[in-house]
Amino acid sequence: MTKKTKKILFFIMINLVLVYNNKIIFADKKYDKPKTSFNVLVINSYHPGHYWESYVLDGLEKSFKENEEYSFNIKSEYLDFKNQSDKNYFKSVNYMLETKYKKGSIDAIYAVDDEAYEFIKGSILDEESQFYNIPFVFSGVNQEIGSGKIDDSLKVGLYGEDDTYELVNLILDLNPNVENLNIITEDSYYGKSINDEVVKFISKYSGKEIKLTYISSNYIEEVTEKLIKKGYTQNSVNILAGEFQYRDSNIYLDPNETVKIIKEYNDSPSYSNDNTYLNTGIVGGCVDLGKIHGELIGDILGEVLNGKDLSDNYPMIEPKAKLYVDYDSIYKYDINPMNVNSDVVLINKQFYEFLLPKNLKNATLLMIIMSILGTICLLHIHIKIKKIDLIEKQKQKLKEDRENLKTDFIVNLSHELRTPINNILNTCKVIKRKVNNEEINKISIEENLEVINNNSYRLLKISNNIIDITSAESGLFKIKLKNENIVSVVEEAFSSSISFAKLKNIDMIFDTDLEEIITAIDKVQIQRVVLNLLSNAIKYTPEEGEIYLGIRSINNTVEIKVIDTGIGIPKDKFEEVFYRFYQVDYSITRKNEGSGIGLCIAKDIVKIHNGKIELESKEGSGSVFKVTIPMKVVYLEEDDNKIIEYDVNTIASVEMADIIK
Ligand code: ADP
Repeated sequence: MTKKTKKILFFIMINLVLVYNNKIIFADKKYDKPKTSFNVLVINSYHPGHYWESYVLDGLEKSFKENEEYSFNIKSEYLDFKNQSDKNYFKSVNYMLETKYKKGSIDAIYAVDDEAYEFIKGSILDEESQFYNIPFVFSGVNQEIGSGKIDDSLKVGLYGEDDTYELVNLILDLNPNVENLNIITEDSYYGKSINDEVVKFISKYSGKEIKLTYISSNYIEEVTEKLIKKGYTQNSVNILAGEFQYRDSNIYLDPNETVKIIKEYNDSPSYSNDNTYLNTGIVGGCVDLGKIHGELIGDILGEVLNGKDLSDNYPMIEPKAKLYVDYDSIYKYDINPMNVNSDVVLINKQFYEFLLPKNLKNATLLMIIMSILGTICLLHIHIKIKKIDLIEKQKQKLKEDRENLKTDFIVNLSHELRTPINNILNTCKVIKRKVNNEEINKISIEENLEVINNNSYRLLKISNNIIDITSAESGLFKIKLKNENIVSVVEEAFSSSISFAKLKNIDMIFDTDLEEIITAIDKVQIQRVVLNLLSNAIKYTPEEGEIYLGIRSINNTVEIKVIDTGIGIPKDKFEEVFYRFYQVDYSITRKNEGSGIGLCIAKDIVKIHNGKIELESKEGSGSVFKVTIPMKVVYLEEDDNKIIEYDVNTIASVEMADIIK
């Protein structure tokens, strides 16, 4: 070997050692690179859909889902223990598992119960097996079975605890007169162990003569046959455990179905420690919740696969089972509720229900209902009193408002009366002085007479209004209906107002789509309405403004619209302006004469014609008053009876008298 070859060999050797060492370092760690996903093989003893095993798997899945660091794949295998129990079958299952799961494909094995544990433990210990020495977890395993062979450093889990003692105590508490106990179980090691435990505890602790009957079968038909044979006896209690199949189809019964069928043959209170029977109509039991076991195992697996030493705290005893009692069953089977201990979890009890003896319960319920009814009654009375109070207050307010309106009206009226009277008196004085001074001429007489005339109309309007409003109030306001062409009635009123509008340079527009609309109206009163609306429009529209009057027939009604470009009316006063003596803002309206009666009378007149008067307005922009009167024809025209004392121009002069100062 040359020196150079020696050097190369030495270099290779050094490198090999380094690589070897590195390998040792890697092997020391659990994985060459951190794993985040694990395959867990779950060995179930029974069949897919077995209730207890399904609850456990639910819990396991829940815990895995909550684990944010790792993801888990569950591979479930079922031994079908109840139907297959010979050695060759298990050998073949074992062979199947060894072939199906290659070495390294499974990161942990979970045996759900005793049978599964017994089955798989051989593989964990067998050097030849694919599952040799792999992390092994279990639940619900009998401590005697679990504490052999496999070293605690390789396995973790929950040892099962027998809760028969608690179950028997619960039965004796709730059924102190029990004389017969039927133990109805599936035909299995589990079923037999339940029976053995019950027998042991009854003879040891009950101190009573209780007849025990063991009914063991996997088939519901056999169970019912045995129940029939035994016959129903008073003071009996049933204990249920395991699952049952139909004989012909081998289909497993839903636990609700099992309880229902058993009740048909023996409706004694039933109890069970089996999670499967919770909420199926049994009275209660001391129940382990499979889901909680599954969750615990899931949490343990999370820690184990994260490298936690298996032998740190585990295995441990499963969590203490809880006593459950169904609230409804207590009353169905006449159980004394006082015998239910405080550590019992009551299921199916509503928040408003009480755990009390039946009579007391009804009395309490009655009291609660009565007090609720009483409260409702009191509340009702209280609301009623408040309502009456409110109505009284409203009435009082209305009365006060009316009083105020009346006072306002009197104040206004005196002002209203004083102005035209003063005008008349002053004019008379002027005439007298002129006569004395012999300054009288035709023009001046005419002018002065015009002033007297106009002011007299104002006085007449006031007195008319007062008479009308009083007669409307006492129901004496009558109209004389006559078939009229309402278009010309309205147009006449419109024409007679033009000269008054001119005084303020207001443009007047009349619009109609028909020349003639015949309907029964009181012509004078309708003209008063139109003139009142026009007089208001002229009063509250500034100089150079515009007033539009439109009339049309629509849907068997006549619609009269008076639109102005005046000061407008605030929205919250739309109703009030139709009240007697109401004037929107006295500081503004005092600029104009008026008494606040016109619209109220107009509304009354329209109402007597079975019509309505509506208002739309925007402050500062103008107002729209819309009168709608239904069209009708009278065949017997009412006697005119000289109600028309004035022609339209006279009415206009009266209605417009306010406008001329
Ligand atoms: P008045 O004799 O005071 O005009 P009315 O009953 O006719 O009495 O009107 C009541 C109040 O309604 C008026 O004082 C006025 O404030 C308001 N009003 C009526 N019509 C109009 C209008 N076209 N524009 C603005 N305000 C109006």
